[in-house]
Amino acid sequence: MKRNELPTPCFVVGEAELKHNLEILAGVQKRTGAKILLAQKAFSMFRVYPLIAEYLSGACASGLYEARLAYEEMLEKQSAGQVENKTIKARHAKEKMGGENHVFSPAYTAEEMQEIVTICDHIVFNSFSQLEQHRAIWRKSGASAGIRVNPACSTQEGHAIYDPCAPFSRLGVTRENFRPDLLEGVEGLHFHTLCEQNSDDLVKTFDAFERDFGEFLPRMKWLNLGGGHHITKPDYDLFALEELLYYIRAKYDVQVYLEPGEAVALNAGWLDTCVLDIVQNGMPILILDASAACHMPDVLEMPYRPPLVNAGEPNEKAVTCRLAARTCLAGDVIGDYSFDQMPKIGERITFSDMAIYSMVKTNTFNGMPLPSIAYQREDGDCELVKTFGYEDFKGRLS
Ligand SMILES: *Cc1c(COP(=O)(O)O)cnc(C)c1O
Repeated sequence: MKRNELPTPCFVVGEAELKHNLEILAGVQKRTGAKILLAQKAFSMFRVYPLIAEYLSGACASGLYEARLAYEEMLEKQSAGQVENKTIKARHAKEKMGGENHVFSPAYTAEEMQEIVTICDHIVFNSFSQLEQHRAIWRKSGASAGIRVNPACSTQEGHAIYDPCAPFSRLGVTRENFRPDLLEGVEGLHFHTLCEQNSDDLVKTFDAFERDFGEFLPRMKWLNLGGGHHITKPDYDLFALEELLYYIRAKYDVQVYLEPGEAVALNAGWLDTCVLDIVQNGMPILILDASAACHMPDVLEMPYRPPLVNAGEPNEKAVTCRLAARTCLAGDVIGDYSFDQMPKIGERITFSDMAIYSMVKTNTFNGMPLPSIAYQREDGDCELVKTFGYEDFKGRLS
């Protein structure tokens, strides 16, 4: 299919763009011995999990459902051809094809833990209380257990909702609440504090972590540095990241993990939309078949103005328009942009950098149809991977 034959709205993920990112990440793994996992929270287009598995070391999940998705679509499929017993557990699959399945959640239920130990090889707990609540089961399963710590080092400006080190954060055990007496069987430590940040902030955070928790590393097998590393952004300082990874390996001899989400699919996708109408109220307002509230909620939550192909800042080009949705929410506005020529009804408009934190966050508020999902191959040919309909709206209600 050609790109302009795809239905709208449609998320389109690019093979070339994805491979570009994966090659950078694979380079870091190869040079440093660190393992990189896909954080599915940011990007769960499982159609491309087999491609991702060719480059990365596995996936990490924010709970049972994501863990199961990686198990089914990244690990089980990969091993199915090679392993006779198709019900083989993740740990055995891992030995066959090299993919790991990690999970972290602030709290697991007992039922979830029963299933998690059959599909995950690494389980990260957010508290010693959770570690103990589930000890009997993870201990028996042979999965590797870790504790998430809070290095109490805020390096983000402005976005308190993305800062796990903000005051009263529930994410990770602080040094004050750390229980060395309960570390029996614990093999790893985990911290995740960054969001879209460069390696200088990671170095700062590692210093704080090392000062407070470094004494426990000699008894650990692994250390997970979380996500939020903007590794595939052109201005990312890869050298400083790799220096840190060499340092950790040389001093503590632990397996280091990184679990970026955003960096895996940064700038690797678009949201193609169509202009359904144009109304006037002080300025031209384009009514699109895409919605900020339903299809790209981070535009309102973060908030930010997503990049638009062939458009400029307001007043930079000949005509400035407001781009808005066809929901009833007055604030469902994507932003103001300028164009060389006034867009027409029926014209396609494309938002960039729409692979991450978009597809995973869609909803059908206001009865909005969900965007289709497509995959654009390196030669430009597009595969329509999935379409949605009324059933998807009705199916989550009763
Ligand atoms: C969100 C999250 C990630 C991925 O973060 P990105 O900013 O997408 O790289 C990794 N690990 C944990 C624990 C997370 O919560």
